Amino acid sequence: MTKWNLIIDVEKCEDCNNCFLACKDEHVDNEWPGYTGSQPLHGHRWINILRKERGQYPLIDVAYLPVPCMHCDNAPCIKAAKEGALYKREDGIVLIDPDKAKGRKDILKACPYEAIWWNDEKNVPQKCTLCAHLLDEGWTEPRCVQACPTGALEIVREVDGETGSVMAQEDAEVLHPEFKTEPRIYYRNLYRYFRCFVAGSVSFQREGVTECAEEARVELWKNAEQVHVTVTDNFGDFKIDNLEENSGPYRIVISYRDYAKKEVQVDLKTSINVGEISLEAG
Ligand code: SF4
Ligand code: SF4
Repeated sequence: MTKWNLIIDVEKCEDCNNCFLACKDEHVDNEWPGYTGSQPLHGHRWINILRKERGQYPLIDVAYLPVPCMHCDNAPCIKAAKEGALYKREDGIVLIDPDKAKGRKDILKACPYEAIWWNDEKNVPQKCTLCAHLLDEGWTEPRCVQACPTGALEIVREVDGETGSVMAQEDAEVLHPEFKTEPRIYYRNLYRYFRCFVAGSVSFQREGVTECAEEARVELWKNAEQVHVTVTDNFGDFKIDNLEENSGPYRIVISYRDYAKKEVQVDLKTSINVGEISLEAG
């Protein structure tokens, strides 16, 4: 049987919140019997966009991480709910039964992704349904995917484990694999949120004027191992990304034309802009 999967590309998310608003448009004041009751106007984020700032001015970026229900195959929420208050359909979608789950605020704690929200007025837990009511009507994508202008969200229906499937793609990862819930939501470029970079600017002096060193060679060393090489752009800036946080001391070695090589020590804890590195005549 084919099952639904969602793939989220962190690199492409720009925090426009169109997905969040499309979800509101679909579910606020709309009852979908057999799927979910209506979503309250305020308080719920069935697709929640988390934000993380990295680096320091001016070498800085922001990563956005959309987090809906993961529609886990090994879902702790289903185990905690008991008696069918939550259940998994054959196509992989996890739904909450609004009648059986009435009054079950305790279910919120069972989800390690904090993807379940409490509806005070209806006295019921609620969450993303992957717009199952639309998919069952023949839609090929939920409203969030349809509304995303950058292609950061992609829905795929396929047989688990088939050749070339989402799961088999090397660049597809799940969020927090340590939770062991076997999510059906996959991510690309998760490093943008969970890993860090080292950046800086290289300059040199010519006739008393400071200039940007374009195409300076920048090597990153950890102990005796060279872990990355890049060159500066036309502003003299460099950025080496996808490094592990708290991965300890590194050496940055800069070479440029006939200027003296320069080394900078970095104790990498989180993303860092090492600032301007001025080269001197060799
Ligand atoms: S993300 Fe949370 S609510 Fe969704 S299926 Fe997994 S455990 Fe359940
Ligand atoms: S619509 Fe797409 S780009 Fe906009 S916040 Fe949602 S996932 Fe990100």
